[in-house]
Amino acid sequence: MNRGLSTLVCLLLAGSLAATEIVWPTSMDRTTIRSYEDYAQPTVSGKPESALFGMVRDEQQRFHEGVDIRPISRGPNGEPLDRVFTAMKGSVAYLNQQLNGPYGKYVIFYHPEAELPVYTLYAHLASIEKNLKVGDQLPKGAVIATMGHTSINATAIPKERAHLHFEIGLVLSANFGNWYNQQPDLRATPNQHGIWNGQNLAGFDPMPVLARSSVNLLDSVRQLPTALAVTMRTKRPPDFIQRYPGLMAPGSDPAKAAGWYVEFTWHGLPKRWTALPPESQQLPKGAWSYVALDQKFRPQLVQRKMITADAKMPAETLIRNVDILLTGTR
Ligand SMILES: [Zn+2]
Repeated sequence: MNRGLSTLVCLLLAGSLAATEIVWPTSMDRTTIRSYEDYAQPTVSGKPESALFGMVRDEQQRFHEGVDIRPISRGPNGEPLDRVFTAMKGSVAYLNQQLNGPYGKYVIFYHPEAELPVYTLYAHLASIEKNLKVGDQLPKGAVIATMGHTSINATAIPKERAHLHFEIGLVLSANFGNWYNQQPDLRATPNQHGIWNGQNLAGFDPMPVLARSSVNLLDSVRQLPTALAVTMRTKRPPDFIQRYPGLMAPGSDPAKAAGWYVEFTWHGLPKRWTALPPESQQLPKGAWSYVALDQKFRPQLVQRKMITADAKMPAETLIRNVDILLTGTR
């Protein structure tokens, strides 16, 4: 076998060996799904796309960080009977039984055994399994809740539009609490969810994951396209790269880094980190700097408030995410 071919075979083997088994998180049979219209629960707009991940709400002005899955069966009172299942093996990271926010009753799982330790989130639940508690380890496909429409928001979710809001993504910072307490405009609203606050969670499109029975999650995130880049200066490496070392570029040594060149997806997920040595010309003068964008993503970056309309300056989503990532690094 020539060297190119043997390398290819090794790569294919490595890819097939590392994978996480995935289960559809509701009672719906995944094999019956032909298109997104089969599982989507649209918003009041009635548009099936409004159930998907992305800038799908309010004429592309509002971001939806997950996917909304409709029920397949309802009781005599019209309430869904669908069970909600763990999408993959993991442990309960957070459990919210209160009706105190837009997610209503929800559960977050953390998946340290996956190629990339992602979280999954299950929201608007009618009820959570009685004995479920933080720290419980569950296999894939375990029953955790019943689908519902709980939410405290400007507009309630009627039972006709009951659904599971499902999210998958990465935790930005273990120091999120410190960041939150430093925000003058957040002082009036205490952080009720610790590091599991939505502002500290960076989701990605769940559908390429849920559509398959086995997925390499590290490859899934590495393959997301880069839309823009920032450089940052750090004294200590962000805890993000300790949690997700697989997202570091080859040859990056956190111990020797004076900063980082960080590539983001259009929706704000920091997907690739290249260490910058102390002598690097790329190190920013201040704490961080927005340095590059792919014009192809410009409309989405503007809608997502990653950059200003003229594409010259970072906007609120990027500023917040970088700020959170940098907490505790200076
Ligand atoms: Zn949703």
